[in-house]
Amino acid sequence: MVDNCYGELVEKREPGHVGANVVVGSLMKNLGGGIATSGGYIAGDTKYIEMIADRLTSPGVGKELGANFNQNSNFFKGVFMAPNAVKSALKTQIFAAYMLQKMGFNEISPKYDEKRTDIIQIIELKTKKNLVAFARSIQASSPVDSGVYIMPAPMPGYPCDVIMAAGCFTEGSTIELSADAPCVEPYTLYMQGGLTYEYGKLSIMQALSSVLKEINK
Ligand SMILES: *Cc1c(COP(=O)(O)O)cnc(C)c1O
Repeated sequence: MVDNCYGELVEKREPGHVGANVVVGSLMKNLGGGIATSGGYIAGDTKYIEMIADRLTSPGVGKELGANFNQNSNFFKGVFMAPNAVKSALKTQIFAAYMLQKMGFNEISPKYDEKRTDIIQIIELKTKKNLVAFARSIQASSPVDSGVYIMPAPMPGYPCDVIMAAGCFTEGSTIELSADAPCVEPYTLYMQGGLTYEYGKLSIMQALSSVLKEINK
């Protein structure tokens, strides 16, 4: 069984093509295309899907009935839009990786020209000031909650303060441009998403400008 969160549509082959019996993921990420507001998917061998369906609803009912909160249209529209959303997210992150490397941030994974297996970009921003400036700028250029001034704060499960930028239409949706980081050395930021490349590029350019301002202070 493969949890393919963040991985869908990034590579030419999906886990099912190379032997996974069951593949699962969240529709608040790649396959929801930024349209689905909740939900997930389970795909795979008929035998296992039927067993899973019987557990999720009840034996004999299986996939024939179940709660969908009238969201089916959003699910299908999301899957339809997903290749485009994933493309934009990848282009946004490749642009970020390229520009940051040019600015001398060399601890970046993946590098702009490296093979990608998911939509996540990891960047070491070296100082807390850079990190906070970058994250604040991502928030400030978001389509929703752009006026929110984000701060590093305690978070359950983390031994240190965490800063999170997510001005998303759907709360928690990480196919939308978002970033989060534990505020400890070496100030590593995890960034993903970008529903359109045009918006993603603008947002990254603004974040880079704020980091440059911070460095030149
Ligand atoms: C996001 C994520 C989930 C949860 O998905 P939700 O739709 O938010 O519940 C589960 N597993 C992994 C690996 C994830 O990244």
